Amino acid sequence: MGRISFGDLDNYGSNGAYFQLKDNGNKANVRFLYNTIDDITPYVVHSIPDGTYPNGNPKTAYVNCLRNYDEPVDKCPFCKAGMTVQPKLMLKLYNEDAKECQIWERGKAYASRMANLASHFNPLVNEVIEITRCGAKGDNQTTYEFMPVGNSPANVEDFDCVEPLGFNILDKTADDMEAYLNLGAFPGDSANVSQQRNNNNQYNGNVVRRTPPTNSRAF
Ligand SMILES: [Zn+2]
Repeated sequence: MGRISFGDLDNYGSNGAYFQLKDNGNKANVRFLYNTIDDITPYVVHSIPDGTYPNGNPKTAYVNCLRNYDEPVDKCPFCKAGMTVQPKLMLKLYNEDAKECQIWERGKAYASRMANLASHFNPLVNEVIEITRCGAKGDNQTTYEFMPVGNSPANVEDFDCVEPLGFNILDKTADDMEAYLNLGAFPGDSANVSQQRNNNNQYNGNVVRRTPPTNSRAF
């Protein structure tokens, strides 16, 4: 899959849609689309401003960092410019209730939770997991409980789920980043990113962007 612009996202239906449970007690049955923990790709991203939500809160877009932690900052213009990095998980799952592939954005605390799940269920994709939100809308102490509810064989390859890089995380070259730093926009964006994304109902202000507390209960 080649790189696309944000304006193109509307052409991809539900692909790249975010998984969300909006309020306390909301549940969904999902399959995580991985066989083992080794199949989960962690990302390191830079955040850039991307306009505002209707309530005035700032929106963010993520841009993939171009260097590994042990490489010189020169490899990534955003690092070189002093922009901070954040580790992110963009977990690919199939929402059995919504009948679509979705991406669940999580902080690094979920790496150990996913490792724990994957150590119990191998291949992980075979297990249907009920996820329950514990925490009211807007509660920054919200946690999520995992409850295995059934096992049925499935193949990761059978799910037509996009890779987050290029959809949920912008995949830019060093030259693109240099241009952004100089001009405030990426080359080839026909309008600014936020104008395009205001039309994109996948970014509706309800996306959970917090890292959960590290004392999240195990499933
Ligand atoms: Zn970087």
